[in-house]
Amino acid sequence: MKLLFRGGTLVTAEGMYEADLLTDGEKIAALGERMPQDGAQVVDVTGMLLLPGAIDAHTHLECVCSGIDTSDDYFTGTRAAACGGVTTVIDYLLQAMGEPLSETLHKRIPMAAAKAAVDFAFHIGVSDLSTPALLASVKDAVLAGVSSFKAYMVYDFGLTDEALYQLLEETAKIGALTTVHAENRGMLDARVKAYLAAGETDPWWHYRSRSEEVAAEATRRVIALAKAAKAPLYIVHLTDEESVAAVTQARDEGQPVFAETCPQYLYFTSDVYHGSRAQDYVCSPAIKGQASQNALWAALRRGDIATVATDHCPFTAAQKDYGLRLPDGRAGDFTTIPNGCDGVETLYPYLLTQANLGRIPFTRAVAACATNPAKLFGLNDRKGALRPGLDADLAVFDPKRDGVVHARDLHGNLDHTIWENTALHGRIVSTYLRGKSVFAQGAFTGGQGAGRFQKCNPVQFTSPSLD
Ligand SMILES: [Zn+2]
Ligand SMILES: [Zn+2]
Repeated sequence: MKLLFRGGTLVTAEGMYEADLLTDGEKIAALGERMPQDGAQVVDVTGMLLLPGAIDAHTHLECVCSGIDTSDDYFTGTRAAACGGVTTVIDYLLQAMGEPLSETLHKRIPMAAAKAAVDFAFHIGVSDLSTPALLASVKDAVLAGVSSFKAYMVYDFGLTDEALYQLLEETAKIGALTTVHAENRGMLDARVKAYLAAGETDPWWHYRSRSEEVAAEATRRVIALAKAAKAPLYIVHLTDEESVAAVTQARDEGQPVFAETCPQYLYFTSDVYHGSRAQDYVCSPAIKGQASQNALWAALRRGDIATVATDHCPFTAAQKDYGLRLPDGRAGDFTTIPNGCDGVETLYPYLLTQANLGRIPFTRAVAACATNPAKLFGLNDRKGALRPGLDADLAVFDPKRDGVVHARDLHGNLDHTIWENTALHGRIVSTYLRGKSVFAQGAFTGGQGAGRFQKCNPVQFTSPSLD
């Protein structure tokens, strides 16, 4: 089937221009002015923006985090994605101790393929490189279609600096990207112990234990490690002002360092940990103060933050209440709240709203949510732009339709949202996955299992530029 999108404004990372867009089957066939209908079905997008479908490069679907199941599985999470203009998710897997990385991947592909409503790829969180065979399995995973490996500098499954350094060297050698969750483990552990010993249990202390300096020290350290290893580096969910300065400095010096932030860090401040339902905002790293939020926006405008992804990792209100009382009746505290928030369906609407308000150009929103993640994770031969030959993954945005986010209107499996009552200026009105409608007129129109596994190509970055 051919679709001719007529009358809209195309938005890419490079510019905005009025043109028609023709799809043929799963691909974009042509772009041009006043194209002939030529047997295609016309989709009137007059007054609308036509964007590449977003790539949410950071989700945790069907994940068991600290023994607690996230509320979204591969179907409900990708249904929500489709309804927010996201046509690809790059989901995080976690290597079990002793498990070769290709096995981590191969056991999850069929699980996701049976359920996913949009396309999907994977990053693998690495927890064990203790033998030569495990280190060699990084390369097997690259051959199997994973181009990025996450190192956690905190948590019991996190990597030591020795293993992190080895991973950086190995990924640089084989054409992959190390992504890092940067917080200082020692500072975090010491603070948690001290606060709990003093009887400080509420969510404010989650923020205090993971404050600006806890993130900043680790960001500076991992940038130094990457420099020594001559490896490109991607820092996930950047949250604080000093980390922004460290990333910016490294990039100014020519180091291939890329950063991601998330909508929750751009919109909320640490004040939420004093407010009502503070537990709902508990995610790691914690949401920081206003100065950090301002620094994140400035870096996004400059391009020193390359991507905005969600860290979508939702838990129900009852699960969030484990911070008050655990299922077994014991009293909870800020350390027993499952870490994570929803965001996959509100990512594009939120960022495009900010573009509509003039805070960033629309082109920057598209770069951060689609084009740059495609380039960084080796999907840009298929995804992330509007070009003949690429997948016809499209989102239609009506910049004049205002609205407000309500949990009851979202399409994931969650009974609340941290985005409740957020004003939107403009809405995603329809989404197409490889030329097929997956969201229209407020309803999911896709299918369970319609999403396909996307192999990520190997990547190699020797400078901070993605052009
Ligand atoms: Zn993380
Ligand atoms: Zn995460």
